[in-house]
Amino acid sequence: MLSQFILTAALAAGALASPVEYIGSDWDLEWISKNDSLPKVVIYSTGGTILSASNYSSLDNVKYGSGVGPTPQELIANVSEVLDVAQLAVVKFPAPGGSAGINSTLYLNVTQYANRHLCSEDSDIAGAIMFHGTNTLEETAFGVDLTFNCSKPFIATGAMRPDTYVSPDGRSNFYQAVAAAASPSSRDRGGLIVFNDRITSIFYSTKTNANTPDTFKALEQGNLGAFLAGQPFYFFGPAYPTGRPYFDVSNVTNLTDGLPAIIIVYGHQGFDASLMYAAVANGAKGLVILGPGAAAVSPSALAAAKDLYSQGIPTIAVARPVTGTGVPDPTPASLIYSSYVGADQARIMLQLALNAGYDLDEIRDLFESPLRNAIFGPAVNQLAYYGTTYI
Ligand code: ASP
Repeated sequence: MLSQFILTAALAAGALASPVEYIGSDWDLEWISKNDSLPKVVIYSTGGTILSASNYSSLDNVKYGSGVGPTPQELIANVSEVLDVAQLAVVKFPAPGGSAGINSTLYLNVTQYANRHLCSEDSDIAGAIMFHGTNTLEETAFGVDLTFNCSKPFIATGAMRPDTYVSPDGRSNFYQAVAAAASPSSRDRGGLIVFNDRITSIFYSTKTNANTPDTFKALEQGNLGAFLAGQPFYFFGPAYPTGRPYFDVSNVTNLTDGLPAIIIVYGHQGFDASLMYAAVANGAKGLVILGPGAAAVSPSALAAAKDLYSQGIPTIAVARPVTGTGVPDPTPASLIYSSYVGADQARIMLQLALNAGYDLDEIRDLFESPLRNAIFGPAVNQLAYYGTTYI
């Protein structure tokens, strides 16, 4: 029945031309609409539990992988209320095998589409949502967030329960993500995650629970807003996350392995620092290390980080506890601290910085500047940590 409402909108060909090879090359969007005065929202569909079904039972939320889930168009038909808040178009990005198998190819593709669809001068699209498997949603979303070049909402969502569950969370998440993407109140905030009645910043969010719908949280920074009767309510006016950079990735011509490889290692008692050298020997151009407490690393890991730094390989230290941060040294040193950027996200930020040609000092500034300036900038702390004031 939806077909009677289909309109076609062709985006201007040639805008934002890029040498990148795309998974698809069709920029045109076919709009599903029942009111052409409603805002337009694009759905970038990469799969995940939101589009899955169980063959076992309506209570199965653990082994549902083999069922045949709804297509995005079927989900729209099942949640037809979405067509009262927006006109929708779907772009599919195949990500077979679950989101644990995804690499940067996906975010490079999604961001090329999102920039072209939403950020070109003649765009009449209000916002975008992305369906994604929750296991690595925060990674693809972060990659898009840091490479998306306009103030319109880009919103990631998914589900923890298959669509066949007795009360599937995906349907509600879908409606809320569309409502948020259609709302001007979602602009100028950076990328957002809409999940389980809450809105959080992609920059700070992580999956906190392997099984339950209340999983995406920005534990330290909190919720930006909540949904009431399906509509977003923001607790604060628009603001971008502190230190959120933008990277232009239009120079990436090889989508499969065009970005530098970064490896994450996990610091623990008895840590074997030779793993850091092994990662580099295996092609890593940078490392992220999770350090216990405030990103403390073992003496052997620190020595390896210094040695690798002297060879041009940066190591980013991230606090291992579920929240909090490592603090940069008062004097810039060879181990770089991530500030409040999590390990998954630091890997992607370093990957993008290296691709952009940042040298080691620029990489340190990228990660450390906001926190360094806040802590060591005030005169009282200049005196305390340097024995003098320098400004
Ligand atoms: N299997 C899913 C994934 O690809 C899990 C989910 O979407 O929640 O991440």
